[in-house]
Amino acid sequence: MAATTFAMEAVAELSTLLYQRGGYDIRLEAAIAKLYNSEAGWRIVDDTLQIRGGRGYEMAESLARRGERPIPIERAMRDFRINLIFEGSSEIMRLFIAREAVTTTCGRHSRWWIPRHRWATASGRSGGWRGSTPRGTQARLVGRGQLPSYGEFGRLAPHLRYAERTTRRLGRAILHAMVRFGPKLERRQMVLFRAVDIGAELFAMSAACVRAQI
Ligand SMILES: Cc1cc2nc3c(=O)[nH]c(=O)nc-3n(C[C@H](O)[C@H](O)[C@H](O)COP(=O)(O)OP(=O)(O)OC[C@H]3O[C@@H](n4cnc5c(N)ncnc54)[C@H](O)[C@@H]3O)c2cc1C
Repeated sequence: MAATTFAMEAVAELSTLLYQRGGYDIRLEAAIAKLYNSEAGWRIVDDTLQIRGGRGYEMAESLARRGERPIPIERAMRDFRINLIFEGSSEIMRLFIAREAVTTTCGRHSRWWIPRHRWATASGRSGGWRGSTPRGTQARLVGRGQLPSYGEFGRLAPHLRYAERTTRRLGRAILHAMVRFGPKLERRQMVLFRAVDIGAELFAMSAACVRAQI
C-alpha cells in the first residue's frame, strides 16, 4: 500500500509538473493519472477492508456499539467507489487512452509508453481507429535502435530499462492488434483495456523512479 501510494503521488506530481511547465499536451498523462489513481486507490481501500475482515465490513457506529475501535473502512469504501464512475468512468478513460494510442501516427516513443503525436483526436478529425503508421513510426514502435541506459538513475536504471523495453513490446502488441483487427479493434475492449492498464503501470513505474530519484 505504501509503495502504491508513492506511485500514485508520483503519477499525480509528474502530470502536474508537466502541466505547469507548459508547452506540453498532457491530456494523456492526465487521463492516466485519473484512471490509475482511481483504480489503485480503490484496490487499497478494498485491501484495507479485507485486512480488517468482518470489522472492515461493519459500519463504524456498529463497531462502536460493540465496544470495538470505530475505524470507518466501510465508509471509506462507499465514499471512494464513486471515483471509478464520475469525472470519466474507468471504462471511458480506458477508451479515451486507447483511442489516443491507436490513432497515433508518429512521434517520440521512448519517454512514455506510447508515441505522443495524436492528430486524429487532437484536431477533432476523429477518423476512427484506422491511423496509418508510417514506416518511421513502425520502426519506433517495434523498438529498433539502442535502448537508453538511464545511467543517471543509478540503482533505478534497471527499472527504467525494463519500462523502456516493455514499452516497446507494448507498442509492438498494439501495432499487431491494429493489423489483426483493423477498424474492429474499437470493439475489442478486452484487448484495448489490457494494453491501457499495462501502459498505465509503465507510466507509474517511470514516474515513481523519477520521484525516487529527486
Ligand atoms: C455523486 C455523484 C456526483 C456527480 N457529480 C457530477 C458533476 O458534478 N458534474 C457532472 O457533470 N456529472 C456528475 N455526476 C455524473 C457522473 O459524471 C456520471 O455518473 C458518469 O459520467 C457516468 O455516467 P452514467 O452514470 O450516466 O453511467 P453510464 O454512462 O450509463 O455508464 C454505465 C456504465 O457503463 C460503462 N460504459 C459506458 N459507456 C461505455 C462504453 N462505450 N464502453 C464500455 N463501458 C461503458 C460506464 O463506465 C459505467 O460503468 C455525478 C455522479 C455522481 C454519482
